[in-house]
Amino acid sequence: MKIHEYQGKEILKRYGVAVPRGVACFSVDEAMKAADQLGGPVWVVKAQIHAGGRGKGGGVKLARSKDEVRAHASSIFGMQLVTHQTGPQGQKVRRLLIEEGADIRKELYVGMVVDRATQRVCLMASSEGGMDIEEVAAKTPEKIHKVFVDPARGLTDAEADDVAAKIGVPAASVPQARAVLQGLYKAFWETDASLAEINPLILTGDGRVVALDAKMNFDSNALFRHPEIIELRDLDEEDPAEVEASQHDLSYIQLDGNIGCLVNGAGLAMATMDTIKLFGGEPANFLDVGGGATTEKVTEAFKLMLRSPKLKAILVNIFGGIMRCDVIAEGVVAASKAVSLKVPLVVRMKGTNEALGKQILADSGLPIISADTMAEAAERVVAAARG
Ligand code: ADP
Ligand code: MG
Repeated sequence: MKIHEYQGKEILKRYGVAVPRGVACFSVDEAMKAADQLGGPVWVVKAQIHAGGRGKGGGVKLARSKDEVRAHASSIFGMQLVTHQTGPQGQKVRRLLIEEGADIRKELYVGMVVDRATQRVCLMASSEGGMDIEEVAAKTPEKIHKVFVDPARGLTDAEADDVAAKIGVPAASVPQARAVLQGLYKAFWETDASLAEINPLILTGDGRVVALDAKMNFDSNALFRHPEIIELRDLDEEDPAEVEASQHDLSYIQLDGNIGCLVNGAGLAMATMDTIKLFGGEPANFLDVGGGATTEKVTEAFKLMLRSPKLKAILVNIFGGIMRCDVIAEGVVAASKAVSLKVPLVVRMKGTNEALGKQILADSGLPIISADTMAEAAERVVAAARG
């Protein structure tokens, strides 16, 4: 799960990381009040969307007067902000952060992710922070310093100080950098984050170390432990089909192809997508209906898939283990009728009460194409999608 910059900064602040004073706003009026409250002479008007690269896309603007705050806030609110992370359609700006302008002497980079190979949190830091960190990583990877943190000890003073020195923090500011790095690590650890990034972390003219940006992602499998983080979720920033899917307890990811897939179990779902591709087709989605493929769930799943204008055919691939094939077949028949399905439907089911399930499909009078093996199912659905 992702959150906005201003929410990330609130979390980091609780862990002792210095951030600029700022106010989140939902309208131009609120932005003007925020500017009054913060006082001048320099403000920064920042679009809040769940994507980076806002500065380059025109979503971060410096204002040297209240009139400029109003002008920037008016133009950024409601704009369709396009960055390298939003895709060409961009993302609509519905929230702003009005912040005091910082006196930037140097822009640094610090970030944390979970490293699968070492099974540790990896701290990455660089002297080359700012808006081009991707290029630094690609062209001069030696400028990115890494520490794999021992989970039993956490990020030690020595490790933090060493990294701070390597990225060019002057000796007098090292204790502040240490507080930032250790605060970032603690925040990452305690919130079950999967990514935490401060880019830029700045050195100010008077030697302070301040987080000017904050990006945090959280492990959704751990969210049940963090109700306060679930509250930060902004559904406007998520794909509407995926939001609806999660409300029906379906794991759904929209893709670019034209063959809808309805499968139980994430492993089988991935294998099904691979098989479709093997036979020259393109999946329109990943969809795992989980353990209980009830009529309601199958109906919702069909509705979700049918939203895609490209959809040409659907493949239902179900393993009846605890779930019985006859129950699934009844669900598929009822759902097809409920949505008056117009695209070809290929069904493969294996397992408990398989014969009974196939009989139900055959007796339904619906033009369902049945298949026995994975290969057969994929071949038939690819052919059906071609028309
Ligand atoms: P993004 O990473 O999405 O482009 P940032 O929050 O990093 O957005 O802002 C982009 C740039 O704008 C920063 O690298 C920094 O140079 C400048 N900036 C951001 N916030 C402030 C601020 N409060 N004061 C001064 N400059 C800022
Ligand atoms: Mg940034």
